[in-house]
Amino acid sequence: MADDISISINEQSHPILCGTCQQPIAFIGESNTDTGKAGCVPCDNIADIQEVLKMVAEYAKDEGQLMFNRMARDVARQSKIMSFEGQTSQNKAHRFVVDLKL
Ligand SMILES: [Zn+2]
Repeated sequence: MADDISISINEQSHPILCGTCQQPIAFIGESNTDTGKAGCVPCDNIADIQEVLKMVAEYAKDEGQLMFNRMARDVARQSKIMSFEGQTSQNKAHRFVVDLKL
């Protein structure tokens, strides 16, 4: 039973990964996207699939903002008149993440 769980972002499917070991997570027991549980057994990182999706969506939203910040930082770096101050990397631990391949 190797049902990879993925999330669709910008019409692209990305597998959901365990935030601890970065391995794809899988359904635990029933593969039901409404009531099932999913997670990473070796890390004991398991949650309701709906919770998992919520956490991943939050991660993706943060990551989108950070990507924008990193772009702004890089632009500012090459400019004499601009400076950039802001967050460019995730500052909180996420139990579940997704590789956005940014
Ligand atoms: Zn893990």
